[in-house]
Amino acid sequence: MSEAPIKPPVEVKYTQLLIDGKFVDAASGKTFQTLDPRTGEVIANVAEGDAEDINRAVAAARKAFDEGPWPKMTAYERQKVLLRFANLLEQHNAEIAALETWDSGKPYEQAKIEASMMTRLMRYNAGWADKIHGLTVPADGPFHMQTLYEPIGVAGGIIPWNFPLPMYAWKVGPAIACGCTVVLKPAEQTPLTALLVSKLLYEAGLPPGVLNVIPGYGPTAGAALASHMDVDKLAFTGSTETGKIVLDLATKSNLKGVHLELGGKSPFIVCEDADVDKAVELAHLALFFNQGECCAAGSRTFVHESIYDEFVQKAKQRALKRSVGDPFKEGVEQGPQIDAEQFNKVLKYIKSGVESGATLESGGERLGDKGYYIKPTVFSNVKDDMLIAKDEIFGPVQTIFKFKDLDEVIRRANSTRYGLAAGVFSQNVDTINTLSRALKAGTIWVNCYDIFDAALPFGGYKMSGHGRENGFNGLENYLQVKSVCTPLVNPAWL
Ligand code: NAD
Repeated sequence: MSEAPIKPPVEVKYTQLLIDGKFVDAASGKTFQTLDPRTGEVIANVAEGDAEDINRAVAAARKAFDEGPWPKMTAYERQKVLLRFANLLEQHNAEIAALETWDSGKPYEQAKIEASMMTRLMRYNAGWADKIHGLTVPADGPFHMQTLYEPIGVAGGIIPWNFPLPMYAWKVGPAIACGCTVVLKPAEQTPLTALLVSKLLYEAGLPPGVLNVIPGYGPTAGAALASHMDVDKLAFTGSTETGKIVLDLATKSNLKGVHLELGGKSPFIVCEDADVDKAVELAHLALFFNQGECCAAGSRTFVHESIYDEFVQKAKQRALKRSVGDPFKEGVEQGPQIDAEQFNKVLKYIKSGVESGATLESGGERLGDKGYYIKPTVFSNVKDDMLIAKDEIFGPVQTIFKFKDLDEVIRRANSTRYGLAAGVFSQNVDTINTLSRALKAGTIWVNCYDIFDAALPFGGYKMSGHGRENGFNGLENYLQVKSVCTPLVNPAWL
């Protein structure tokens, strides 16, 4: 029997900064409001961290790294903490999901899945903790040569609002599994679940200072973290524009290593042999999942000319059937956009699509008069040079393009500054192989979409970022290799 969802008002237990294992106010005493996207009403006032608080948090993380015990304890001990944390996440799944839905507007059932993904990510990273090791290297002389994999030190993490729980797990999981300490800045729109789950991590036995969480704004708290001289590594997920800023800050300060997960404008290619009904459903989910607020959204639907008209009509019918409303209501597929800024941005793009001559098949306007709901919108006859074809809209707006042959669609799909993901829908193995190799994107989903796994690396080509998260690649971001060379004075064979 599935349990009834916890509904708002959900208890908001933690609203302060988390520094050195304790909840504290911001040094300035300032707070900011986090809002309910269903209504625009205030959920809670949250401590607003800035540069001074980042200094306090980095000092705590530095001490916890330099003096231990976290990087010095056995990997097995660290693993046990992560596994206990995963168990606590599982036990608190409904509470975490309810708070997430309230703060972000995403459907409750989806928030539950994301909370479960976080559990899986923690267990996956825990599994690696005691399997990280170097090599004995064959030397060209009488030396014993070996490599050691050491934690890099204090890691900074800056995350966005669209998937707060998985993004937290992508940053914190591998970093602490490797023995690093962390300062995390959640997005200002969704600070609440990061504080709740971090409390559980401490309950699982994390020593003080290993994880510090500083809610606050990007240009103040975020920039202070990116430019901090005592942060050894920075992981950033967010827009390409902000990615450039944080990379610059990191380079100009102490040249800390940075990996970036940025925006996208991913093609979803429906080939002529496709089962149209299945392709329509998958293309719909590829775009509308999470209110369209998804870095990997299949936001350019390319359809072969032989099935184009049928596809457009069916895509329109599917969008009209999409259930939009209160994300706590059972069966609702789409909640509100995250805030007024994103809501207005998406409506502006819709206006631009209409003005530039694309055909508006469905939606195109807000739903209701309260909160940030937008009707599922479908454009057909979209041309590559339109703004809606080039920019990341980050909303429930499907744009459908027509193509004639594979060479053409490969060229057009690749002619973007982004390269995060791509979808291929075909039954023909030669077509699938050609497209999978020719598309310039970090992930290719064939006859599926938005399948993420803790073990499967994820990241972008081109201006969608650099570096990979998940898989062992995700842990490598937090390790550095030391080479140790010792003379063999009495080699065994002499
Ligand atoms: P954003 O770049 O505005 O903000 C992301 C984070 O950066 C937030 O925590 C914000 O406070 C912080 N920030 C903003 N300005 C900053 C500055 N000057 N210095 C330091 N930090 C700063 O992005 P967003 O609107 O929150 O998120 C949406 C974007 O994130 C989209 O472009 C989306 O594609 C991308 N995204 C990418 C992935 C991925 O894995 N590639 C995943 C999720 C989201």
